[in-house]
Amino acid sequence: MSDLILPDELLPRDGRFGCGPSKVPAAALSRLAEVGDDLLGTSHRKPRVRDQVRRLQEGLRQLFDLPQDYEVLLTLGGATAFWDAAIFGLIEQRSRHYVFGEFSSKFAKAAAGAPWLATPEVIEAEFGEAPAVVPTADADVQALTHNETSTGVMQLIERVDDALVVVDATSGAAGLPVDPTQFDAYYFSLQKGLASEGGLTVALLSPAAIERIERIGASDRYVPAFLDLHTALDNSRKHQTYNTPSVSTVFLAAEQVDWCNDEFGGLDGVVAAQREKSAVIYDWAQERDWASPFVSEASARSLVVATIDLDDSVSADEINAVLRANGILDTDAYRKLGRNQLRIGMFPAVDRDDLAAYTACVDWIVERLAG
Ligand SMILES: *Cc1c(COP(=O)(O)O)cnc(C)c1O
Repeated sequence: MSDLILPDELLPRDGRFGCGPSKVPAAALSRLAEVGDDLLGTSHRKPRVRDQVRRLQEGLRQLFDLPQDYEVLLTLGGATAFWDAAIFGLIEQRSRHYVFGEFSSKFAKAAAGAPWLATPEVIEAEFGEAPAVVPTADADVQALTHNETSTGVMQLIERVDDALVVVDATSGAAGLPVDPTQFDAYYFSLQKGLASEGGLTVALLSPAAIERIERIGASDRYVPAFLDLHTALDNSRKHQTYNTPSVSTVFLAAEQVDWCNDEFGGLDGVVAAQREKSAVIYDWAQERDWASPFVSEASARSLVVATIDLDDSVSADEINAVLRANGILDTDAYRKLGRNQLRIGMFPAVDRDDLAAYTACVDWIVERLAG
């Protein structure tokens, strides 16, 4: 099957549609090659690199239109490490988690394992649905997930009580709408919507989150240095990280953030483009009698990760094998979801025309496989 050769005129210009790591634009890589000699392999404590960290922080401040008293924290380890950092430094006694896929369940599991915290409250939704945020009397953190990357569902970010709103925005950041007054910590890795690489974490922090970090930091709770958000905050204020970051990751993310600001004038413009791009995929799926969006509630369908169910007449595995052999990569469903499904990364760096080309390629393959 996978020896089917797609006609050249159908192919997307860039075949990277994965949900993380995701497409890194060629233009950003060229820029990295241009400046790399002066930047890579130089001290992250010196102005050249710290200027790039500052550029990323200021670009994010502009992109999200952050209130003046919010801060942009940088630390290492990606979202997975941030879960542990939050367990040490953001959750005071008990967290409330909304579990509606693989990633949201991992943070809940991590919090449940921390012996110094009370057993977390967990609200579960069917995979493919978005749980509504509801007030809690007993938790001091509301743990939300802006985009559940495993299911292609987005959750509405809203503040409904006094708990800190702590949002895993790893795949949602810079592609989904959000009002900063509705969150306290909005954290993400950079290898998805930010079109960079893994290993670094950004957290946008409200004054309430900063106060919590400082208060727990001053308490006698044991916190490993690498996961200490108070230390990370001190370093972020000096435009550096506690330990050595990947400088290329910082640079590529800063390029992407500047592009979003210059090209779209901020998050609203990016989101408008995302609405149009995601419609290319969802409308296509609805027009095919062998495909349909997995997420039935249209308002919960992600603008950055599309999950498209296929019926029994076509196999997603076979389609993906042909796509891969033709350089169109990584549209496999999340394995543990166990569905006959295509999952397509539509992050800001992915072109609308390439998404249209993707649908044409799948149509072409389905015709051949069925015939
Ligand atoms: C990818 C992803 C993570 C894990 O990110 P790492 O950088 O691998 O730690 C966490 N949450 C969400 C929503 C993700 O999409």
